[in-house]
Amino acid sequence: MISVAGLNKSFGGTPVLRDITLDIAPGERVVVIGPSGTGKSTLLRCLNFLDRPDSGTVRIGDLSVDAARATRPEILALRRRTGFVFQNYALFANRTARQNITEALVTVKGQTAEKANATADRILAEIGLADRGDSYPSALSGGQQQRVGIGRAMALDAELLLFDEPTSALDPEWVGEVLDLMRKLAETRQTMLVVTHEMQFAREIADRIVFMDEGRVVEEAPPDRFFDAPEDPRTRAFLRRVT
Ligand code: ATP
Ligand code: MG
Repeated sequence: MISVAGLNKSFGGTPVLRDITLDIAPGERVVVIGPSGTGKSTLLRCLNFLDRPDSGTVRIGDLSVDAARATRPEILALRRRTGFVFQNYALFANRTARQNITEALVTVKGQTAEKANATADRILAEIGLADRGDSYPSALSGGQQQRVGIGRAMALDAELLLFDEPTSALDPEWVGEVLDLMRKLAETRQTMLVVTHEMQFAREIADRIVFMDEGRVVEEAPPDRFFDAPEDPRTRAFLRRVT
């Protein structure tokens, strides 16, 4: 079980996350949507302490990290249980696709180069890039780069994968292949927390939609109920704008 309890975060005195509480069951696929500037990225970043929450607790399995007294080893342990897929891929430009995947396996998970390379080759095949392992990011399309970004997160075998708008920096022609890879991953029942503006995709893969507004979780429901019978006026207003 993954749970976030009483999470608060301010930037320069302005509250961005207000008392967020969220539980995610193993294998659950949760999609977070909401207006721009509402704290969705901050929530994802606070979940693995890329941004340190001001207060609150993040629990992943038997590891519970309290923002008020989190130690460095606890934060590193939390990061080892999560994988993060960024909007702008965040690949190392001076490393090949394969090296981008092996990097964290060696440095974070302590795998030997041989084992990491074997994992990377398996992942490269899974993401449809078996023949591009030696390519540098600049030689790959946006869609291929993001598939490497996802592959890098998949390779970690993390309990939770976090996706922050993984398709919104892509040219439209590459969006489909990235969503297809995420669909495939969702079918394996990988636990996923996904921020996206792709509403049709959200409806397809989500077990639950979480709607955030002004730093709060306003409404959460299974996709059919969420999209067809939203309860909160803020949810309705948002859906009118985006669908
Ligand atoms: P979008 O849909 O545009 O990606 P979001 O819901 O992801 O928006 P966040 O990026 O979490 O929103 O930002 C929430 C608020 O926090 C915004 O007002 C933003 O300007 C502010 N913010 C985020 N990160 C920082 C930071 N490092 N320093 C100061 N303010 C920040
Ligand atoms: Mg964001």
